Amino acid sequence: MVLRKISRLSWTDIVAFNVAAFGALAAFVFFLSQQSPAASMAPAKESAKESAPGASRKRIAISFDDAPRGAGAFLDIQKRPEMLIKALKKGGITQAVFFVNPGRVTPAAAEQGELVNYAAHGHLLANHTATHKPLSQVSAAIFLADIDAAEKWLKPLPGYRPWFRFPRLDEGRRDKAKRDAVRAGLKARGLRNGYVTADGWDWYMEAQTVQAKKAGRKMNMTALRKLYIETHVASANFSDRLAQRLLKRRPVQMLLLHETDLAALYVDDLAAALRADGWEIVPADAVYADPMAQMTPDPEFADGTLLEMLAWERGLSGGRWFPRNNIESAKKLFASRVLGE
Ligand SMILES: [Zn+2]
Repeated sequence: MVLRKISRLSWTDIVAFNVAAFGALAAFVFFLSQQSPAASMAPAKESAKESAPGASRKRIAISFDDAPRGAGAFLDIQKRPEMLIKALKKGGITQAVFFVNPGRVTPAAAEQGELVNYAAHGHLLANHTATHKPLSQVSAAIFLADIDAAEKWLKPLPGYRPWFRFPRLDEGRRDKAKRDAVRAGLKARGLRNGYVTADGWDWYMEAQTVQAKKAGRKMNMTALRKLYIETHVASANFSDRLAQRLLKRRPVQMLLLHETDLAALYVDDLAAALRADGWEIVPADAVYADPMAQMTPDPEFADGTLLEMLAWERGLSGGRWFPRNNIESAKKLFASRVLGE
């Protein structure tokens, strides 16, 4: 987790730069964040348009990275996967996808059983490398070997899909030769990029809960639930607007979450909030059947969601990054609302 945070910093600097450049938008979103969750969603005018017959609909699938993930602040890690399965069922999420790091599965058979159990409940399993090394920190050969190690473990499992998600969404950043070597390597292996289009930095919210717990701080759980839900609905709507600016249509979106305590506690409520906001939750299989899945952007800095990379490649003006995805904003929101500072 510490490593994850540190390696995110250079990316964060870039995000922070953009947030500064589009400060007005950030301020507007922060203002919205102070309102009720309903107020932070799409404007009323847009909702009316969406309910019109024949209007394109907002569709999104749910993914969880880093399974099996380490302990969080609240739950018994042995019970968490079962809780998450129940929450997915309660939320009507019939087919989520788990991007697995088999190198983190301990010899205890229970953990492998837990992952297989996700598949037994209709969810999918796919590759996130064996050991979660980000591409910009290793060679293409080491990275592809890490993918192969995960693939060997995953392929025989039920619910397997030949999809690969880059750890930390790092696709090689400025090193285009390495990026292209890995793209070619994935193609040769019959693997597709299991990209993300919406991201609300749940991993950072989780890190803050762990830190608060260690410090013996009291957390307002009602406020935490609201913050988690509201942030992810807002990130989905941000991506919806970004996609329409880029593609002039509504592709099927893929939301990035992690296999955290927060997911097990709140994903059913998040699903309900997304639906209340006009989203249809679709099976993970629907995402990579979208024509957008054929796009391979060529940005200066290959990192982030597919929509962010397309926006960068095309030099799209206006906000290209979800304004809450930076340390300063995320910290401030958590401190004021969950810690009551
Ligand atoms: Zn990851």
